[in-house]
Amino acid sequence: PRKFFVGGNWKMNGDKKSLGELINTLNTGKINADTEVVCGAPSIYLDFARQKLDAKIGVSAQNCYKVAKGAFTGEISPAMIKDVGATWVILGHSERRHVFGESDELIGQKVAHALSEDLGVIACIGEKLDQREAGITDKVVAEQTKYIADNVKDWSKVVLAYEPVWAIGTGKTATPQQAQEVHAKLRDWLKVNVSEQVAQSVRIIYGGSVTGGTCKELASQPDIDGFLVGGASLKAEFIEIINAKH
Ligand code: 13P
Repeated sequence: PRKFFVGGNWKMNGDKKSLGELINTLNTGKINADTEVVCGAPSIYLDFARQKLDAKIGVSAQNCYKVAKGAFTGEISPAMIKDVGATWVILGHSERRHVFGESDELIGQKVAHALSEDLGVIACIGEKLDQREAGITDKVVAEQTKYIADNVKDWSKVVLAYEPVWAIGTGKTATPQQAQEVHAKLRDWLKVNVSEQVAQSVRIIYGGSVTGGTCKELASQPDIDGFLVGGASLKAEFIEIINAKH
């Protein structure tokens, strides 16, 4: 059985005051022990988040660079992320791809380096609206997954996050059927291109306008192993999403 995984992606939101309050809410909330919970903090608050969050909640960076150190102004490395006690990094997020122009190649290099430094990787993929409408969703997410998979040796440190771009921050959650269909195709892709064992063990999580209201039915789908949550992860509602299976 795959352990349910719920990540919060705070994106570029919050300050010490508001994040401190959120962290208090999470620390005191009732969180089911059979869900793995990780909060993705802005890099400047990684240390703060790790110091304040209860040990049962993991901390993730939202991005990192592909090498350990050097003249890369403004970037952070997996070594630095680990140094402040965070253990995960989100890579290939839609906003990194589409606002900051990150390519599949760069994302693959980042995945390889982060894993080589023993960070867990939440690797994100997802089609844009025009691609869905053109009927090429499966092809698009398979291609994105290939660039990630080519850079993974140990899949135990990888969570695959399917986040359709049209569902992110729009309030248009994918229906449970739409999400399940893509998750099942992704698991199939892993079976054919990686291995049956990896296909059965890798968590495939859904992201895109997940709320307390939509999480339960999504969580009941056989191939949805958790969520990556943006807006709702900044609210007490995140606890409901964490407990979606219960
Ligand atoms: P929203 O939950 O705000 O749609 O964001 C989803 C997301 O991008 C998580 O990484």
